[in-house]
Amino acid sequence: MIPYGKQDISQQDIDAVINVLKSDWLTQGPQVPLFEKALADKCQASFAIAANSATSALHIANLALGVGQGDIVWTSPITFVATANSALYCGAKVDFVDIDLNSGNMSVSALQVKLQWAKQHNCLPKVVIPVHLAGQSCYMKAINQLANEYDFAIIEDASHAVGGQYQNSPVGCCQFSDITIFSFHPVKIITSAEGGMALTNNIELAESMKLFRSHGITSQTDKMTEESHGPWYYQQIELGFNYRMTDIQAALGLSQLARIDEFIEKRNELAKTYDEAFANTAITSLISANDCLSAYHLYLILLPEADTQKHKQAIIALREQGICAHVHYIPVHLQPYYQQLGFKLGDFPKAEQYYQQVISLPLYPNLSSDDQQHIIEQVKKLI
Ligand SMILES: *Cc1c(COP(=O)(O)O)cnc(C)c1O
Repeated sequence: MIPYGKQDISQQDIDAVINVLKSDWLTQGPQVPLFEKALADKCQASFAIAANSATSALHIANLALGVGQGDIVWTSPITFVATANSALYCGAKVDFVDIDLNSGNMSVSALQVKLQWAKQHNCLPKVVIPVHLAGQSCYMKAINQLANEYDFAIIEDASHAVGGQYQNSPVGCCQFSDITIFSFHPVKIITSAEGGMALTNNIELAESMKLFRSHGITSQTDKMTEESHGPWYYQQIELGFNYRMTDIQAALGLSQLARIDEFIEKRNELAKTYDEAFANTAITSLISANDCLSAYHLYLILLPEADTQKHKQAIIALREQGICAHVHYIPVHLQPYYQQLGFKLGDFPKAEQYYQQVISLPLYPNLSSDDQQHIIEQVKKLI
């Protein structure tokens, strides 16, 4: 079966991990700060805080922005559940903004309409989390203008987009957001097995995320409520978590980071081959915006019509041909847990239509040309 995504591990990656295993530090050693520094530099951000997953990084990002009970957080219904869950962890209420069917990303016009409505009804969000679906940045400049007008903070869920660019700047530079989150799960662009990172240019947010990452404990004397008792002393000043990344994971992530441009280039080449193959067919590929370099975590196509049965049959047919076609994503608001919170079918029609049409095709750096041609042939047979 050709998987939809897969890591690319080199001998150098393996050696990097082995070196950590032979060293004095399996965790809380030098590799995590090295990985953080390297990614912050790559993304032109001031601070990077590694965590044991993007989910944890999203959680501490919300906490650092002060999200709590009584607050409202908005995101896209077309994302992995973790994006929305991260706000629920803080006791906040979650709501969604419908997507733009051309890109699959949060629709800026829908966001604007919803903000006007929310202002009148006194229920504006504290934080909005745009998700860069498949690796293509949302229209961050426009979203940032709305953030200034309506006074909300922005967390970019860039789990798909590390290595990508928006308006000639790296995704993660936080020019138009407060915090950007990356994931290093093996299906993503670079991997640390499990792992995530939060980037920011704001030192207070960075310090706060560091506290929440490690039990709310500080060894910095200026943060303590009384004079330090001695060199062993620390204080817990927040209720934090153990969300730390290990040095084993960081060494793998750092080694992978050295090849990120190569990965992005290969993903873009493969995506171009798909684009060209489907250009004059009834299959629609999500548009690639001129001012973005997509990291192409995913290659998403839309079938010509929104038909649940045909959609299901298409995916089964591809799987019968050894192609592990997938769906990214089931709209979050339709998950049973979210329906219990009051969401229902019909709430976000574009996201629901998208769900009936979308197919995620295999895309990863070492996808062979033969396998890709096989995928293209079989997809064309669907229509
Ligand atoms: C993968 C993913 C996450 C969660 O990442 P983990 O590192 O597995 O916690 C969150 N948001 C999006 C959009 C993702 O694709």
